Amino acid sequence: MRIVLLGPPGAGKGTQAKELVTKHGIVQLSTGDMLRAAVAAGTPVGLKAKDIMARGDLVPDEIVVAIVSDRISQPDAKRGFILDGFPRTVPQAAALDRMLAKKGLSLDAVVELKVDPDILVRRIANRVEQMKLRGESLRADDNAEVLKQRLAAYAAQTAPLVEYYRGQGSLRSIDGMASIEDVTSAIGRALADAAFRRGSARKTGRKARNSSSGRKRVGRKAVRSKKPVKKVKRAKAATRRKPSSKAGRTKAGRTKSAPRRSVRNRQKSNKAVRSPRLTK
Ligand code: AMP
Repeated sequence: MRIVLLGPPGAGKGTQAKELVTKHGIVQLSTGDMLRAAVAAGTPVGLKAKDIMARGDLVPDEIVVAIVSDRISQPDAKRGFILDGFPRTVPQAAALDRMLAKKGLSLDAVVELKVDPDILVRRIANRVEQMKLRGESLRADDNAEVLKQRLAAYAAQTAPLVEYYRGQGSLRSIDGMASIEDVTSAIGRALADAAFRRGSARKTGRKARNSSSGRKRVGRKAVRSKKPVKKVKRAKAATRRKPSSKAGRTKAGRTKSAPRRSVRNRQKSNKAVRSPRLTK
């Protein structure tokens, strides 16, 4: 199973990734953790990333893509992985698609944790206070100012990924403000649904069309179909339901069909229309 967890800093991606590791026996790949390890070890990547991370900005795509590409090739990632904090830009997402396609793989699901940014800032401020009280060491980017910059970077560079993955039909959005247990259950249901859809697609020779994107699966890749099936269906339905000029509106705001007229009434009104000519 290959999953991407999407959501702003503090949304709970790390916590949920750990739950998924236990449940599915796959590895968690956190680019933030990998970069922090590189900074701590003083590697060339760490030296480049150190100041950028401390400011709350994003490390350049080519650095992060190279780290992930290397990591997912390792044996422990063969069974699957959860990407936590990657991709964070559209070019990173496109690079991930290419990386996986080269290996004949694809993502199973992209889970978006939706959160309220204002509540998030308060949540993180509380967490930092509690860590200070416990005497725990803080991350260089664990303070209100840097958090605001990280949220701004998320809104500008990462939020567009929601549309990117919605377009691919792999996006599952979940309320990240619910309790940890509820979020875990919602992710479980979303992944089961994604697996069910993949299973049905496989049974029907991968011709099953994704209900939300108008894309169909060919091999392991999702490609846009030439036929806009949904639009045709809607157009047909509109023709069937077209209300007559006498149609009115119900209290609930729905259109209702024109009242049926008896055969006699119809004959009468037809005569009325013809009558001026007859009198000439
Ligand atoms: P995180 O622990 O995921 O919040 O990441 C901490 C910091 O590492 C971020 O604020 C970025 O500076 C950097 N970082 C982590 N992942 C990425 C990524 N995919 N692309 C660019 N920078 C990243």
